Amino acid sequence: MPYRVFADYHTHTYYSHGRGSPRENVLAALDKGLERVAVSEHGPGHFSFGVRGKKLERLNDEMIGLRREFGGRIEVLRGLELNVMGFGKSDCPADRDEYDVIIIGYHKSVPPTNRLALSVWGESLLHIKNDPHRNAEGILAAAESCRANIISHPNLYLRVDIPYLAKCCRQLGILLEVNSARVTLSEEEIRTIAGEGCGLIIGSDAHSPGRVGDFALAGEAVTKAEAWDSVVNAKKI
Ligand SMILES: [Zn+2]
Ligand SMILES: [Zn+2]
Repeated sequence: MPYRVFADYHTHTYYSHGRGSPRENVLAALDKGLERVAVSEHGPGHFSFGVRGKKLERLNDEMIGLRREFGGRIEVLRGLELNVMGFGKSDCPADRDEYDVIIIGYHKSVPPTNRLALSVWGESLLHIKNDPHRNAEGILAAAESCRANIISHPNLYLRVDIPYLAKCCRQLGILLEVNSARVTLSEEEIRTIAGEGCGLIIGSDAHSPGRVGDFALAGEAVTKAEAWDSVVNAKKI
């Protein structure tokens, strides 16, 4: 790979349903030679994995401590992976600006608060066909409402109109993720995103320290699509 991914903005820990601690993720990132790592736990709206209340406060304190401890060696960022809670809705916390990185993604196990989520639940239960363009609009509106930096794993659980999403994300300055735990974009879609001038970002979506900085699957997909120049967290080597 003639490019090196230097930052992992998408990692989870045992605060949600991952296995390692935030400190172990930082150590793993250092070990992989990354320059920057974020812990971006599942937002409070996720029914099973969401980190909220006192637990979220504890995580935030821990992250501030890690930033101090590792300063000068690796940049430690506070992130959150928020949930699309319905059409244009997210579980954005009141202190959103305290976070360095805001990711938003569509997940299951999110109590439906309005039509977007309901249509998806309907689709899986009743095989009702839902509309990728409408889904993209709903996710975009949610991303805009929380001023998200990244939309994680587009197409996962819910098909979206990728050309439209890419066009809007370019205008809004939102990056689209090529997720390295499971690639949710086709080669053609990655090409389309790059062609629209929208930035791509590679995330490990690690749920254990061993996977922090594992960009193999996403890297392969980006190579096939010849889209490395659009990946904002990669440098030419
Ligand atoms: Zn996710
Ligand atoms: Zn994730």
